[in-house]
Amino acid sequence: TSFESSGLRPHILGNVLKSGYTKPTPIQKYALPIVMKGRDLMGCAQTGSGKTAAFLLPIINSLLASQEPPVMEESTCQPRCIIVSPTRELAIQIFEQSKKFAHNSIIKTVVAYGGTSVNHQRTVLSNGCHILVATPGRLNDFVKRGHVNFASCGYFVLDEADRMLDMGFLPTVEEMLGHATMPSTGERQTLMFSATFPEDIQHLAGKFLFNYIFVAV
Ligand code: AMP
Repeated sequence: TSFESSGLRPHILGNVLKSGYTKPTPIQKYALPIVMKGRDLMGCAQTGSGKTAAFLLPIINSLLASQEPPVMEESTCQPRCIIVSPTRELAIQIFEQSKKFAHNSIIKTVVAYGGTSVNHQRTVLSNGCHILVATPGRLNDFVKRGHVNFASCGYFVLDEADRMLDMGFLPTVEEMLGHATMPSTGERQTLMFSATFPEDIQHLAGKFLFNYIFVAV
């Protein structure tokens, strides 16, 4: 398997090759086709395995295919894809990779995390985005204030679920996934990644993933 034969659109393929990626890593090799088909996924993979590209590439690919502008409903940003990451550092890394893969396209990515000015991030969000990468606390805060909602969220990614669990974020994540405006399982594509698969994560996967495929590398 190669990136060239993966079915990615030429524009994004060009950005992948420009990033210096020549060959898919194991998680990319197994997860990419599954995510491209629209299936829910539970991926067991460590940081450093290349899991970020495994979920970003197919999502950006399908957002590019539809060429829809970002959705703003009055002053509420409705991202088409929401990626939740346990830490600011990880969120920034995902944001940087997303910008790289979506370079020179209509796809806009925004990052939001705690410990920094709410106002600045609010202004950025008010211009709309396709992809929002956020830490759980800040995202929840924006949702509660009505700056962001899930109504257009066709792709939801929960990254490093086991670290979310360790940091006590799982109740917040469950609240978001159960939110009234979140499209139901089956209508949204949900992807979860975790280095380990303890009982609490299995429970979460069983509750919020629909007919999912399990991949471990
Ligand atoms: P991740 O596990 O997604 O955080 O990725 C770890 C690092 O590997 C990042 O710096 C990526 O840019 C890099 N990387 C991911 N996939 C590939 C690939 N197929 N070829 C070369 N580098 C990669």
